[in-house]
Parts: sequence; structure tokens; C-alpha cells
Amino acid sequence: MFRPASSRALARGFTTRAVDGFVGAVGNTPLIRLAKWSEKTGCNIVGKAEFQNPGGSVKDRAALGVVEDAEERGLLKPGGTVVEGTAGNTGIGLAHVCRSKGYKCVIFMPNTQSQEKIDLLRMLGAEVHPVPAVAYENPANYNHQARDYAKSLPNAIWTDQFDNTANAKAHYVSTGPEIWEQTGAGVDAFICATGTGGTLAGTGKFLKEKSQGRTQVWLADPPGSVLHSYVTSGGKLKERSGGSITEGIGQGRITNNLGTFVNEIDGALSIPDEKSVEMVYDLLDTEGLYIGASSALNVVAAVELAKKLGPGHTIATILCDGAYRYQSRLFSKAWLKAKNLESAIPEHLKKYAVL
Ligand code: PMP
Repeated sequence: MFRPASSRALARGFTTRAVDGFVGAVGNTPLIRLAKWSEKTGCNIVGKAEFQNPGGSVKDRAALGVVEDAEERGLLKPGGTVVEGTAGNTGIGLAHVCRSKGYKCVIFMPNTQSQEKIDLLRMLGAEVHPVPAVAYENPANYNHQARDYAKSLPNAIWTDQFDNTANAKAHYVSTGPEIWEQTGAGVDAFICATGTGGTLAGTGKFLKEKSQGRTQVWLADPPGSVLHSYVTSGGKLKERSGGSITEGIGQGRITNNLGTFVNEIDGALSIPDEKSVEMVYDLLDTEGLYIGASSALNVVAAVELAKKLGPGHTIATILCDGAYRYQSRLFSKAWLKAKNLESAIPEHLKKYAVL
């Protein structure tokens, strides 16, 4: 079993050279051993601290990957425009990447999104188009509007994060090799949830190849997503129904990114919202980590997988982003009540719900 290096964390700074701007600072995130859950399971439960990316989330890697792929393929030239339909971390990552590289960034999003998100994107220099929140089948859906708008401009790309496999490739060339290196080639299993599927497919594919199939790769899924049943039923796609409080994950179809890898997934776990929310509070209390609900869901899934595999295994997952972007919900008593999640928080952790 791999043992993490001693925790003289600051010493790391002396050996790390300066990097080139925002782009140079993407990736190379720490891998954090989660002490309580590692001890409880007799495994090493490790989380990749993607909230430490310069734009604050795992999507910085994908944003950089899709932009640099378009540059390499000659689709995007200096002074060009990057267009995407996104309500979340991808837009933030793209806005940062575009500022740092001198591109214009245009984001289409459903008009149901919070004013904070719109303000943040605008502060990062993006042009934001809130459009009516209509279903994917409707041509006015924000994704289609992003695609059509990009087509209408010269020297513009629609990054198409769900189906553009440059997204998964960014994880294949960075997240996967980093986890391999940071575990001393000793990662027995990797598990995470998916939105576009880029993180799971790219990281999972690299780890499976490098370990010659020894690393198991599992999918973690929130309620309302069709992927858990797709994997466990051997490929039957059901109708999407219900939903989850976790943002940025869950899916109703097999995207191109997930499709490159879906048949190699070893298993899937479905995680109820109660457990994810409880883990947000637990990791804050026990590790001092302030992470969002998708990260917490990933840790719950890693712990469940550790129990299945038994002691002595190293299980890696992704800490996708911080709780800052969701704190007005996750730490609000009224929101927890409205979502029927009050009883998910144990008494001794309720003190953190200060809003
Ligand atoms: N967690 C959060 C908070 C996200 O924003 C996303 C991306 N939508 C994911 C997890 C999932 O990442 P991916 O798109 O690579 O599947």
C-alpha cells in the first residue's frame, strides 16, 4: 500500500519552480490523504485537490485542454472568440483561460442561474447571455445557442465540453499521470462522478493503461442521473427522472467523452444526497476541508468502494471544487430544511450551518 510523504507541506514550495501565468498554474494539485476515512476503512482514501487550480475547479484542466486543442488544430487564431454553453465551472475556467491568452469569451447560460455566477463571469471578462431555460430538445436551449453563435462569427469556436474529447484528453495527459506519480504507481481504484465524463474517462483510461488493467475504475452517480443504471444493467439507457442537490454532475445520456471509456468501467455506486451533504460537513469538521457537494459525493463513494475492496487498498477520487460557490445553500438552515436535508446533518455538525 502506498504511504504518503510526511506532511512537511511547505517544503514543497522550495522545489517547485515558477510557472508561466494562469495556464502554467493549472494542474499539479496535491493529493490529500483523508485521515479519518482511511483509518476507518484500513485503506488509503486520497482526494485530488482540484479546488487548488487557479480558477478553483477541476474544469480548469478541461477548459485549457479544449482551447489548446483548437489552437493546435488551427481552429482558433490570435484575437479569436471562445463560445460555450455552461452554467458553472467550465465557464469560469474558460473565462480565465481566455483572459490569459487574449481571446474573447462568450457564455450562454439558462436565465435561472444565480446573479453571483453571472457577475463572476462578467468580472472575469466574459460576455454573458442569459437565455430562457428550455429543454435540450428545444433549438433555443443554451447549448444550441452557443453552437449557432460560434458558427456565425469568424475565428470562433464552440468548445462543446460534453462531446469534444479534447476534454477527456486533458485528464488523460495530466490528472491521470499525476495520480499515478503521487501514489507511487500504487492506485488500486479510482472513482468519481461525471458531468461531461471528461474527468472519469480521461483519468480512468490513463490509470487502466498504465497499470495494465490492475486499477479498477468506478463511476459514482447522484440521484436523477441515468449512468449508474446504465453501467450496472450492462448498457440499458433509462429515462432521466428526479434530481439531486449536487451541482455539475449527473447525466441523461452517454456523452462522447464518457463514450470513449464507458465499456471499461468496472462498477458504479449511486449516492443519495443525504450522504453527500453529511460528508461536506464531515470533511470540514475532521479535515478542515471546505469542499462542494460533488467532491463530498466522490468521497462517500470512495469510502463505500474501500469497504467493498477491503483493507490495504489505495482509492483515489477527485475533490472537484470548494464550497465557496455553494455556501449560501449548503450552509443555510433554511435551504437544508427546504430540501429536507436537516436530518442528514448529525447534531455535533449542525454548528456549521450558520447561515
Ligand atoms: N463537479 C463539479 C462541481 C463540476 O462543475 C463538474 C463539471 N460539470 C464535475 C464535478 C464533473 O466533471 P466532468 O465534467 O469532467 O465529468
